[in-house]
Amino acid sequence: MDEDAGALPKKQDFSEWYNDLLWRAEIMDVRYPVKGLYVWFPYGFAVRTYVYRRLRELLDRDHNETLFPLLIPEQEFMKEAEHIKGFENEVYWVTHGGTTPLEIKLALRPTSETAIYPMFALWVRSHADLPLRIYQVVNTFRYETKQTRPMIRAREITSFMESHTVHATWNEAEAQVESEIALTREFYRSLCIPIIISKRPDWDKFPGADYTIAVDTIMPNGKTLQIGTVHHLGDHFSRTFSILYEDKNGEQKVAYQTCYGISERCIAALISVHGDDKGLILPPAVATLQVVIVPITIGNHHEDVIAAAEKLKADLETAGFRVKLDDRDMRPGAKYYWWELRGVPLRLELGPRDLDAGKAMAVKRSGGKTTISLAMASGDVSRVLGEITDAIRTKAEENAKLHLSTADSMDALNSALNEGNVAVVRWCRERGCGNTIEEKANSSLLGTEVRSEYIEATDGPCIICGKPGKATLVGRTY
Ligand code: ZN
Repeated sequence: MDEDAGALPKKQDFSEWYNDLLWRAEIMDVRYPVKGLYVWFPYGFAVRTYVYRRLRELLDRDHNETLFPLLIPEQEFMKEAEHIKGFENEVYWVTHGGTTPLEIKLALRPTSETAIYPMFALWVRSHADLPLRIYQVVNTFRYETKQTRPMIRAREITSFMESHTVHATWNEAEAQVESEIALTREFYRSLCIPIIISKRPDWDKFPGADYTIAVDTIMPNGKTLQIGTVHHLGDHFSRTFSILYEDKNGEQKVAYQTCYGISERCIAALISVHGDDKGLILPPAVATLQVVIVPITIGNHHEDVIAAAEKLKADLETAGFRVKLDDRDMRPGAKYYWWELRGVPLRLELGPRDLDAGKAMAVKRSGGKTTISLAMASGDVSRVLGEITDAIRTKAEENAKLHLSTADSMDALNSALNEGNVAVVRWCRERGCGNTIEEKANSSLLGTEVRSEYIEATDGPCIICGKPGKATLVGRTY
């Protein structure tokens, strides 16, 4: 195999790079014969497992995991008027059981509010039942009419983490929204993915919500990708589904709710933000394998080297690292290429001379080499993995800063967007001015109340009408 033949030019054509990498690194197979449905390869599924393990760890602090049915009866689905309006063009319906037409059509969940909330109405009785916080990781179905892309826009979202909470008051629900935002920050920090948080304009909020806080990241081509949303549902759904509780004085009260979602777009972002021309780059915290050991065996030292490599693997596994010893009968160069493509953060090369010196060569997937001591392998590996995490995060953050700018006029906004940037403008929050910005810049108003460490977002005169305006994030979106 010629190693150079595998070069994937990411800068040249990001879309092609992404599709090519999903195939070559064995993340997803796009050959399933239904449009918009994709198959996880085992390696891709392992990447998913560790990413979602991290997400579950964070959620399990104060949520309970559960599992609701995929099918939602039509009458429940139709109950919340705004909600159904938001999803009516995207729902798949089950109309038959075998050859028998169903009396009540069943929706394949596009999201689970209308599956879960009738049950919440049964579960919530008194103030002592609140707050109620649950989540599930499930597949959902949406009949997407835009161009589909693996993990970014699919008709089956395979890995939708949705959390649903119930609270006694509007303010407690608001505090929950903030807590989920903090959780999202922590999750994406583990993934070393820079995020920008903002409040979606009213016309773009979740159907049936009081307001929606969205989490976006910037993809290498300058488009933004929404990788999480938190919704304050107010009492819209609890009134519709009669989620009531008895307060301390014995009075019946309407509850308040939030819901929160993250899909496999988090993995699309992980791949896209960090990967390079050689393939994936996985941050150690979520890497399927954190260390691969490649023995360099020459002549009569073969057995010594293999024995030392096995001991190294055992030492590292005892210390809790995810390690693979690659003792396949292949040239070392071919193995390097293989594991670089799959994004393993650290490669340890062990040959006879290293063994004599009590060391192993440590090659970082984020760039650069060092050595580790075999006698103190776990401490050294821990330190080097920390350096790799820092390098991956720093590079991603610098890139995010490069792609963010402030625009004071429509011309400046258009040039910023055309250069592949995401911009902060000032907007008066009138729909008319909002539409003008979106149309004239072929873009989307992502949101106000911008929270980002990567750009200063200050208020000022509206970019269209000159009235007092709020700092507003504008980008071209997936
Ligand atoms: Zn205006």
